[in-house]
Amino acid sequence: MVALSYTRLTDYQHCPLAFKLRHLERVPVPAARPLEVGALAHTIAAAYLQQCLQDGRTTDWEALQQITRAHLLTQPADLGAEVQEALEGLPQFLVERSDDYGVEEELAFTRTWEPCDWHDRARVFFRAKIDYHFRDAGGVRVIVDHKTDRRLWSREETAQHDQLPIYAFLVGRVRPEELFVVRVHFLRYGITRTRAQPYERSALESIRERIEAQAQVIDADTRFEPRLSPFCGRCPYTARCPAFQSALKLGSAPTLTSPTEAQNEALRLLLLRKGVKEAESRLKAWVDGHGPIPLDDQEALGYFPKRTTAFDAVEPVVTRLLQAGLPRPEVWEILSTSKSAIQQLLKDHSQSRLMTEILALARTDQQTQFSVQRLAAEEGSDEN
Ligand code: SF4
Repeated sequence: MVALSYTRLTDYQHCPLAFKLRHLERVPVPAARPLEVGALAHTIAAAYLQQCLQDGRTTDWEALQQITRAHLLTQPADLGAEVQEALEGLPQFLVERSDDYGVEEELAFTRTWEPCDWHDRARVFFRAKIDYHFRDAGGVRVIVDHKTDRRLWSREETAQHDQLPIYAFLVGRVRPEELFVVRVHFLRYGITRTRAQPYERSALESIRERIEAQAQVIDADTRFEPRLSPFCGRCPYTARCPAFQSALKLGSAPTLTSPTEAQNEALRLLLLRKGVKEAESRLKAWVDGHGPIPLDDQEALGYFPKRTTAFDAVEPVVTRLLQAGLPRPEVWEILSTSKSAIQQLLKDHSQSRLMTEILALARTDQQTQFSVQRLAAEEGSDEN
């Protein structure tokens, strides 16, 4: 049996086949940018926390800059920029003094939940790396998980998320406190979500039972059947998955007559989009190595030169158009200014505060877009 973790349990719940390919057969997957950004951001956040705790500082913007620079020195500039963005809110979290804490502590346990060496493959049953935990002034163990992606959980999601009680249970195996507060730090935004009710030690026993029950199901599984779901949209194994491949080929009814048909069709659309993206990247790779692919004697698919025309000096163009008698409102209409471009400009010149004033000059509009979206996370903060 492979060592389990929260991620592995979740992977199995999403799709047994994907679990098997990733964790049992270890089929390699291409490096994913968000994972690279997340891993680097977590490492920098850990080094920063260690520094603050050692120096007895609640926050230290300069130390963060130095640590970030040192870690990004050998990284490509665009990756570095993304990592910095993911850590933008980090200095807003105040680091509490504590006489007992752990940063990126690696916890590994045997089947009988005895602590063991992280690398002891023969004995490790379950493991987790805890971003940060500490004993607070009131003798409560606080467990913090760092998130670096763009998703912000609502309070309700925080209260119900199954990752946090698992971490509380595991930390409880190696620390003596009776109460465990769990919280999530969204490093990008400087926002904290804390589960309103701390966990009592006795209540965490149910977590042990839940993990063991899930482990039994995985142990007993011999088929590892694929499970089509929106998760397929993020699955790196679509090319090896028979269920995914045949779902792409399914025809659909000319009209949808029930909620189930609509749901199946939505899922199929998602799979088709994913299939299109994958076909495109395979084709690009082919064209990179072999040149354009002829489609018939008229057309080919490949990289071809495209002439573009840009006007860097806008003022003389506008002046000339107005001199020619073109109506001013229509001339202004064709000059486009985007919010993100202005935002970047102000950021580059350390003038971000001007954005509020600039936005007051804007006309806002609202429209709907046909797209697949995550359900909206709640805005705002519990504590910051
Ligand atoms: S494509 Fe979907 S069903 Fe197939 S392995 Fe991936 S997650 Fe599972």
